[in-house]
Amino acid sequence: MKFVKAKKGLGQHFLNDISIAKEISQSIDTDIYTKKTICLEIGPGMGVLTQFLITNKNIDFHAIEIDEESTSYLIKKYPEIEANLIYDDFLKFRLSENFNENLIVIGNFPYNISSQILFKLLENKQIVSQIVCMLQKEVAERITSPPGKKKYGILSVFLQAYYKTEYLFTVDETAFTPPPRVKSAVIRLVRNDTKKLDCDESMFYRVIKTTFNQRRKTIRNSLKPIINDKRFNDEILSKRPEQLSVKEFVYLTNIVSEFKGL
Ligand code: SAH
Repeated sequence: MKFVKAKKGLGQHFLNDISIAKEISQSIDTDIYTKKTICLEIGPGMGVLTQFLITNKNIDFHAIEIDEESTSYLIKKYPEIEANLIYDDFLKFRLSENFNENLIVIGNFPYNISSQILFKLLENKQIVSQIVCMLQKEVAERITSPPGKKKYGILSVFLQAYYKTEYLFTVDETAFTPPPRVKSAVIRLVRNDTKKLDCDESMFYRVIKTTFNQRRKTIRNSLKPIINDKRFNDEILSKRPEQLSVKEFVYLTNIVSEFKGL
């Protein structure tokens, strides 16, 4: 069968190392489910992960792929997946209208849109119970970084508020055809018990974005455009955003909301 021609615009870097593909597919933690769970692969390409996922008895395999050349290739190679292969752009796809139960998401993400994919999954956190994905090493490190580290940022706090994040392993450029310019890494995110944060969630997002956009400044200084009042005072305001855990951001959000409500 003719191979799919890699299209740069679609972030197509095909994994050519079968043992890594197997390792990624086996990184899904199925022990946390009591029944067969739907697994959605984003961007199966030529099916290097797919071949291992379809034989996993604990999951019900689905996939979404934007590239028509890849979908035709996949249907020829794995005819049994045709009914569960969605030909669409994941970023436009109405996830919660099509899936309404526990969902495992897996994929070697197209790197040009990996953050957008993660934000979309976060918007659907009520159904997305686990994510196993490969993305740029740099982004993987940011997502899994604990507070106090340089790499800790917006994505880390947003995702860690709802998911336990784990850095699994690094993958070299040479494992792909064509090779990407950067190293890659595989991470696993497992939904925690937080249904809702103990604060106003839109204010939480706003506080995090505002403070990290000027990460060198103290929180007091970067929040000045929101609250510029001497009576607004707390020890936490003299810290920098990268020092704050999710819990402390919740605390900060509550004092901001309280003050704005006065
Ligand atoms: N999983 C394959 C391919 C990874 S490359 C492998 O590991 O070899 C990324 C894949 O994502 C490509 O198949 C690309 O066509 C697909 N893709 C890119 N943008 C997409 C989008 N918006 N929605 C769905 N799939 C997309």
